[in-house]
Amino acid sequence: LITASKNPKKIKELNRILQPLGIQAVHEDDCGICLPEVVEDGETFLENAKKKAVSAMQATGLPAIADDSGLCVAALDGAPGVYSARFSGENATDEQNNQKLLKLLENVPEEKRDAYFISVICVVFPNGDVLSAEGRVDGKIAFAPSGSGGFGYDPLFVVDGKSFGEMTAQQKDAISHRGRALRQIAVKLEEYLHADK
Ligand code: IMP
Repeated sequence: LITASKNPKKIKELNRILQPLGIQAVHEDDCGICLPEVVEDGETFLENAKKKAVSAMQATGLPAIADDSGLCVAALDGAPGVYSARFSGENATDEQNNQKLLKLLENVPEEKRDAYFISVICVVFPNGDVLSAEGRVDGKIAFAPSGSGGFGYDPLFVVDGKSFGEMTAQQKDAISHRGRALRQIAVKLEEYLHADK
């Protein structure tokens, strides 16, 4: 599978979870190609994931896998949602997005800081077949960042008293939205590959 992502930390995480499942995801650099930029203008995670996977499949002729993911915060009516990567503007850094989130939740008490991460994984084949899976993890937004692991909003996203940034890679993958979605897609791929055509 060609990985339809340009985010090195996300690619690392995808590979870390997919490899033990027997799936090899290759990055554009491994193939000596440069995938086209995709405008993520879909209204849903699935639309964006599919758009990225189709674009990578068309550019390479290979089956492609894409993840579209984000953070949905209850007190912000589900924001930043599909806009998670560019919450504080185009080319925003993780640090800027985290600061904006903390500022918006400044006066929100602990019991109202519920949030969840969602990941939609889409695999698209050159014959047009599409597989997809969704994973979700519920947690809370902390009052300050903690931990240096992971990426994005990890230092602010807390599950059972520990932020994703404080967890080991194995601890995060075991419960994360992406881990859950990828384990489901692995099962669907297995079924797809063994189905009578
Ligand atoms: P996209 O799927 O590339 O559009 O961007 C998803 C954005 O959601 C990332 O840039 C992060 O800001 C956020 N995000 C998605 N998954 C995670 C995660 O596992 N940890 C922290 N932030 C995440």
